[in-house]
Amino acid sequence: MCLGDEVISLKPGVRLLGLSPQMVFAHTVVAAYWVETQLGNVTVTSGCDGNHTNAPRPSGHYVGNALDYHIKSLWVGPQRASKVIALRDALRSALRDDFLVLAEDVDGPNEHLHVEWLPKRIT
Ligand SMILES: [Zn+2]
Repeated sequence: MCLGDEVISLKPGVRLLGLSPQMVFAHTVVAAYWVETQLGNVTVTSGCDGNHTNAPRPSGHYVGNALDYHIKSLWVGPQRASKVIALRDALRSALRDDFLVLAEDVDGPNEHLHVEWLPKRIT
């Protein structure tokens, strides 16, 4: 899908089966942020596919409550890690408390942004 010069795409093999409405909302926020900050191509690297067994709890990926995004090629240079953290923090702020936003494996081979709907209990 083209939005002006920006592109939203799925990495080959990504499956979105059962994506929750909350994650559709989150993806809209992520894509809008990418466009607003001119980050270029927004690529979803994982939906309900892939291996997500390293999580300390059952992964939201398998029930449509998590998406991963490619961030590895967004920046280069010594300030890169701080820019990744600033991106993570901006999306945490935009999505608020019921979403988990993680910058995983920063500067590593599996670096990506993880966004998951993880609602807090209403008391
Ligand atoms: Zn993930």
